[in-house]
Amino acid sequence: MDAFDESRVFDVARVRADFPILSRCFGKLPLVYFDNGASVQKPMVVVEALSRYYREAHANIHRGVHRLSEEATAAFEEARRRVGRFINARETRECIFTRGTTESINLVAASWGAENLRAGDEILLTEMEHHANIVPWQQVAARTGASVRVVPVAPSGELQAGVWRELLSSRTRLVAVAHASNVLGTINPVREIVEAAHAVGALVLVDAAQSVAHFPVDVQELGADFLVFSSHKVFGPTGIGVLFGRAELLNAMPPYQCGGDMVLEVDFEGTTFREIPERFEAGTPNIADAIAFGEALDYVAALHPGARAHEAFLLDEATRRLGAIPGLRIIGTAGQKVPVISFLLGDIHPLDVGTMLDADGIAVRTGHHCAMPLMKALGVRGTVRASFAFYNTVEEISRLVVSLERIRKMFGQ
Ligand code: PLP
Repeated sequence: MDAFDESRVFDVARVRADFPILSRCFGKLPLVYFDNGASVQKPMVVVEALSRYYREAHANIHRGVHRLSEEATAAFEEARRRVGRFINARETRECIFTRGTTESINLVAASWGAENLRAGDEILLTEMEHHANIVPWQQVAARTGASVRVVPVAPSGELQAGVWRELLSSRTRLVAVAHASNVLGTINPVREIVEAAHAVGALVLVDAAQSVAHFPVDVQELGADFLVFSSHKVFGPTGIGVLFGRAELLNAMPPYQCGGDMVLEVDFEGTTFREIPERFEAGTPNIADAIAFGEALDYVAALHPGARAHEAFLLDEATRRLGAIPGLRIIGTAGQKVPVISFLLGDIHPLDVGTMLDADGIAVRTGHHCAMPLMKALGVRGTVRASFAFYNTVEEISRLVVSLERIRKMFGQ
């Protein structure tokens, strides 16, 4: 496929018009935004949903008898239905609103983990996990006497089936695994992992932070027990995200935070708690962002599968053209990837590369990407990461290539 085929599969110019920030310039340089793995930009439907809510419909939810409160409650619960539809949850109540991926994982570790883990139990992680899917498990392991075991990553950036299968045993109580790596781009074989984990009696938490923006994710098809993601990585606002959990698991878990809205009966002698989803949503929730998040999910779902084909095209194109730059090493060459390319340019420090790309108007991420154990395993101090979304173009990739060539020459590499 050449550059001119792009518009045939996906009308990128039309989509870009939905994102006003993409037409920003720094001086004369139009912004090239390749930091989508960290957070994606927001389409106007999301910006407008936020503004409309505050202009026309704000009130506290669930407890009000007045019409405004009823309207806000209906919009909030509609957002939950949209989340459920987006991930094909069996029941809407299996979708809990949290502050994001990080809080969702902390919730499961603190609530399910503290209740179910004992000395001798094992939590299985992979070397490519984000800190958010490592540290909460370390903490609960330290408190319960359970231990954390780690699946190593092969040089290609993949998990080897022979290796992860061997680490699963009757001691494994939970596997927590990234659906896609934020550093390597690798899409992990989650369905196989779930099947094998269930066969030894373990549960699986899927960190879908990096997958939901790129392809449809179906919790029933994956067989996930828990699945977590953040709104801001899937075109919605910051400060909101989801914990999906199977209803019977969530209803058996103790509350994570306590307060208003999640109780049935409060007495100084004792308190009874509501069932899900309210059980895990203490206090006034992030109403406006939940509603705008729902809009974002509908927006993304409507763009599939054209967006996916376009992103695959961008990934292939960028891999080929970056790979042709002398001295550039791509880190993460798995067969199945989301559009993320980590790389090193000769001996140049990733921070220098990122700073110089910024001077050319190109936003990338540099450093350890909240994956220090992976950096250690790869033997690198950090990488430069270009991560794409469906609104990116081949012309932008060309600008990245030209810029990298200039930097390489400047550093005499
Ligand atoms: N997990 C993965 C794979 C991520 O890429 C990220 C963020 O980069 C997180 C978890 C944490 O997400 P958040 O900061 O939105 O809670």
